[in-house]
Amino acid sequence: MASGGANYRNGTQRNSLKGTTTATDRQLSMNLNPSKAALKNKSLSSVGASSGLRKSSPGSLGGGTAKDDAGVPGRVRVAVRLRPRNAEESVADADFADCVELQPEFKRLKLRKNNWDTDTYEFDEVLTEFASQKRVYEVVAKPVVESVLDGYNGTVMAYGQTGTGKTYTLGRLGEEDTADRGIIVRAMEDILADVSLESDSVSVSYLQLYMESLQDLLDPTNDNISIVEDPKSGDVSLPGATLVEIRDQQSFLELLQLGEAHRYAANTRLNTESSRSHALLMVHVKRSVKGRELAHSSQNGNSTNMAKSLRPTLVRKGKLVVVDLAGSERIDKSGSEGHTLEEAKSINLSLSALGKCINALAENSAHVPVRDSKLTRLLRDSFGGTARTSLVITIGPSPRHRGETTSTIMFGQRAMKVENMLKLKEEFDYKSLARKLDIQLDKLIMEHERKQKAFEEEIERITTDTQNQISEAERNYADAMEKERLKYQKDYMESIKKLEEKWMMNQHKLGERKDQMASTAEEVAELQKLLSKETSLRKAAEEEVNNLKSQLAQLKMSEASANSEILKLQKMLEDEAYRKEKLEGEISMLQTQLLQLSFEADETRRRLDRGGPGKVLGGLDSLISQVRPQVNDSVNEEKASIANLFEQVGLQKILSLLEAEDADVRIHAVKVVANLAAEESNQQKIVEAGGLTSLLLLLGSSEDEMIHRVAAGAIANLAMNETNQELILSEGGIRLLSITAANAEDPQTLRMVAGAIANLCGNDKLQNKLRDEGGIKALLGMVKCGHPDVLAQVARGIANFAKCESRASAQGSKTGRSLLIEDGALPWIVQNANNDVSPIRRHIELAVCHLAQHEVNARDMITGGALWELVRISQDCSREDIRTLAHRTLTSSPTFLAELRRLRIDY
Ligand code: ADP
Ligand code: MG
Repeated sequence: MASGGANYRNGTQRNSLKGTTTATDRQLSMNLNPSKAALKNKSLSSVGASSGLRKSSPGSLGGGTAKDDAGVPGRVRVAVRLRPRNAEESVADADFADCVELQPEFKRLKLRKNNWDTDTYEFDEVLTEFASQKRVYEVVAKPVVESVLDGYNGTVMAYGQTGTGKTYTLGRLGEEDTADRGIIVRAMEDILADVSLESDSVSVSYLQLYMESLQDLLDPTNDNISIVEDPKSGDVSLPGATLVEIRDQQSFLELLQLGEAHRYAANTRLNTESSRSHALLMVHVKRSVKGRELAHSSQNGNSTNMAKSLRPTLVRKGKLVVVDLAGSERIDKSGSEGHTLEEAKSINLSLSALGKCINALAENSAHVPVRDSKLTRLLRDSFGGTARTSLVITIGPSPRHRGETTSTIMFGQRAMKVENMLKLKEEFDYKSLARKLDIQLDKLIMEHERKQKAFEEEIERITTDTQNQISEAERNYADAMEKERLKYQKDYMESIKKLEEKWMMNQHKLGERKDQMASTAEEVAELQKLLSKETSLRKAAEEEVNNLKSQLAQLKMSEASANSEILKLQKMLEDEAYRKEKLEGEISMLQTQLLQLSFEADETRRRLDRGGPGKVLGGLDSLISQVRPQVNDSVNEEKASIANLFEQVGLQKILSLLEAEDADVRIHAVKVVANLAAEESNQQKIVEAGGLTSLLLLLGSSEDEMIHRVAAGAIANLAMNETNQELILSEGGIRLLSITAANAEDPQTLRMVAGAIANLCGNDKLQNKLRDEGGIKALLGMVKCGHPDVLAQVARGIANFAKCESRASAQGSKTGRSLLIEDGALPWIVQNANNDVSPIRRHIELAVCHLAQHEVNARDMITGGALWELVRISQDCSREDIRTLAHRTLTSSPTFLAELRRLRIDY
């Protein structure tokens, strides 16, 4: 839109008419020719004669405030304005008093009937000959303009005898002196000051109604515009009239001048005067009230930005109609030169129809003849309609026109009784809302696609990383195993060789003399030293192997998502394990053999102690007899014996040694069993042979912490298998492990116990039982030791448990809140969720995520401070998968989101 010019409906811009008219201060009307107004002194009608004071309902012209209801009755406000005497009257009426006397302070007008009698009338506003144009605008029109800006229809009309100042009041442009500006110019100034040029629009039509034909003053060729009434809303519109959008005051003034010029030309052509036609200016104000009125319309005040942006724009439409009516004098009085009586009647048909309508409305009559004339059809919604209406009646002071003045006053009095129904015109702009939603949807789809792509890439990256990590761990494991195996093999071979030699020597010596006993005892002591060296070497190796195992187990755990990859690698591992199995079998066999030799030496020592060869081997003789061929027989037999030793001696036998009286024997036996249990291939055999039960018994019966530690380690290894887990629980393992933990002083013992329970925690079927037996409490009891290795196992147990619970909840098999929370694990979880030791931290972060996935836990997590850990994990965790899990968990929990909102935290 070009600014500064008037834009027309057809889109072309016309040149301003500046300079085409000559008057310095034009008005929107033709000249008044007072001489033509015939003087007719008709006696005043009896109206009001007796009462003297005509009362109408009180209230000033601007007093009625529109409520925002759909329909509020508003009475037509009526002001009376007296024109000052003009030059002619000053001379002609010099000796006479004015026919009216105004009492503006009482809003009264006294009409002199004769020298001694007056009638008094009350109006909403009484404007004397000294009233300024500004004041007239403010009391007559400003309230109407304000309600148009609020979305109501409004009408301002001037009624009165020709020459009394209707056009002066409404249409003066005030080009010479701005104080002279009339209602139309001031109204547009107020409207333009209040609307926003971006979101609102103001457009005008300007028309003349003459002899029941409606002419477009903005397009003179258009001289028979039809009136269209909406049967439903009762709205009146003129689709044929030119509608010009106004963007500034200057273009509006130019438009008024253009209309005025056309009116002059039309009246010249019709040989009439403007006093006989009605001029109508229509201003359409369309405003979008979104934002401006929002606070007002949303009562609870908590509508979000989203809701705001989705609210359709509300469009309020107001229409201001300013009507400069034809002179109210009777046609025969103003003269009808050049017109027949019929024409004369037609000229004022509209005005008399307006009078009839007002009478009918004032008397509350059932039938209001609005259809009788075009004017009444046009003003249908101004009187008794849905508009706010102000009427200014103009009168002159001259007693010569008392009759006209009286009838004007009576018209005003009747109009004061007319009640209107205000109606707010609002409608929703659903089209632009739909457009907005479309754009928003597109954005969301784009965002979603982008995120999905990033997610897929991330998965791929994690899978590759994991593969690399696993193969590296595999390599390390294999290397370490190989190294250990070679070392063992070598050491054992040497030890065996030495023992054999010693054995042979002992045999020999024993057969000879008692006095060699002392030296034999020394040798036995030496042998024992050797044996303990071997044992400590093996212990170190065991620990190394265990470390590697737990590393591998951790990697396996964190890689649940890359299951297929892991399966592949596991298969490779199994192949590898199978290859190692033979070697390990040999190691075990050697271990067993060593054990036996130690027993034998033991026995030998005892026999020597007792002073004779006798029954040396006691309860172990069958065992030894099976070992003996190694020593005594040929080399071939020896090899076969070693290979079959494990089977021959029997696991059963080794296990029976767990109950041996001698503490050293028990320690060695439990170590052998622990070593065997470290191998998956042996585990089933051990359990079937009752090894697990024996180990558990040993935990209960032994007081030796080393036995506790090794036995717990063996149980932890066996507890990796699901069947064994059930067995451990059914045999009271949790209670035994708890007691062991309670008495332990060595953190490594606690680590083994915690590791065993942590493995049990990962069994979906055993959750409730494990908890009932005190498993969670036992885990939590171990944290006071503070050793990071122990804490890591506790954390792993909690994470395992939380994961199983989360799975069970998702499948619907668990409903209540977490047993971990029930057992008081939450404070420790919250305290260690950001532990410096990364395995502890990782396990707990996972546990927090699992707990958070279930709304039943949300309240406890909020009060326990876990929500903040979840928020931290979702933002700071260095592992992206956990970070994403935490974020997803947070955003899908209504309770967490509500809490964050309640704390006004934008997440
Ligand atoms: P109408 O439109 O009712 O026929 P006009 O507005 O043309 O009357 O006024 C007739 C004459 O009286 C004009 O010359 C106008 O300037 C003058 N006039 C009307 N009202 C006033 C007023 N309040 N003060 C001064 N002059 C006025
Ligand atoms: Mg006029």
